[in-house]
Amino acid sequence: AREIRLKSRPSGVPTHDNFELATVELPDPGPGEVQVKNLWMTVDPYMRGRMNDVKSYVPPFQLGEALQGGAIGEVAVSNDPSLKPGDLVLSMLGWRERFNAPAGALQKIDPQGLPPQAFLGVAGMPGLTAYAGLLRVAGLKDGDVVFVSGAAGAVGSLVCQIAKAKGHTVIGSAGGPEKVAFLKEIGVDHAIDYKAEKDLTAALARAAPNGIDVYFDNVGGDHLEAALNAARPFARFAECGMISMYNSTEPPAGPRNIIQVVGKQIRIQGFIVSSHADMQADFQRDLAGWVREGKVKWKETVFEGIERAPDAFLGLFKGENLGKMLVKLA
Ligand code: NDP
Repeated sequence: AREIRLKSRPSGVPTHDNFELATVELPDPGPGEVQVKNLWMTVDPYMRGRMNDVKSYVPPFQLGEALQGGAIGEVAVSNDPSLKPGDLVLSMLGWRERFNAPAGALQKIDPQGLPPQAFLGVAGMPGLTAYAGLLRVAGLKDGDVVFVSGAAGAVGSLVCQIAKAKGHTVIGSAGGPEKVAFLKEIGVDHAIDYKAEKDLTAALARAAPNGIDVYFDNVGGDHLEAALNAARPFARFAECGMISMYNSTEPPAGPRNIIQVVGKQIRIQGFIVSSHADMQADFQRDLAGWVREGKVKWKETVFEGIERAPDAFLGLFKGENLGKMLVKLA
């Protein structure tokens, strides 16, 4: 079976030289173990942080080892009564075509009518991130005007649709006309193509002339500055990610207008999805309802074959994905 290993740690923007494709001989699974054939794997922006040799809320990837990350696979051989061949399982063992693992390291998935890869996106970790970040961290309440950056991505596109399903005015920002068209398709009231705007503050002021109450931040940098400028008193900012900085080699300047947090009494709160695992059941129930009612749609961008996984990952930082970036393995 083939796997992708971290060959060297990137400095700045990662390149193909940081990855290595290797073939390993898989032994038969031992007692209590199962062999899984992966069908889909995910690449996610947070993996960039794990490529640096620094301690964070997840430990760094090790050089020469297969990269870790979410994957959906099918049980091929089972030596444990809890799983049988053909069962669908979610693992965090990542960038490999096949692997052996103790049954306890795998989560059995009941697809409930969804395609298996949805559990890496809209119905998986990115989905819960959108749900918890908007409803709990930002504390969405009636009448809020919501601004979302990275709005055409896996997390952002669900944030926009949850806010629309609850009747809010939503402004979304993404790069390029195709993404803007998608945002309109999912009901976003004002879509900003940030790549076509010289002045994001001015663009946001046009889209939200009376200001914003909630900012769901996926990008950081100039998007965060524009959101601070547009914030109404007592606005709440859910700091989900700051992808514009993940490949920086120098600490970025700003936000230069952070002083506004004082006068406007803005609440800015970062969060990590795993701290909100208690919302999983509510999330699944609400998502199922929204999907049934046609209020939530999702897109996927798919690269085929494990050898394309680095391309998929690098593509995240070039905005090559509409919706969830995925790698199809079988
Ligand atoms: P996306 O599907 O949104 O893919 C990444 C997107 O980011 C790209 O498509 C691109 O869209 C945009 N992007 C890339 N570089 C830049 C840049 N320099 N400036 C502005 N936009 C850029 O990824 P996810 O939905 O998986 O993740 C979105 C965010 O949520 C990330 O910041 C991620 O780290 C964070 N996250 C946080 C979690 C948490 O627990 N806090 C959990 C999961 C995700 P475009 O073409 O529009 O530029």
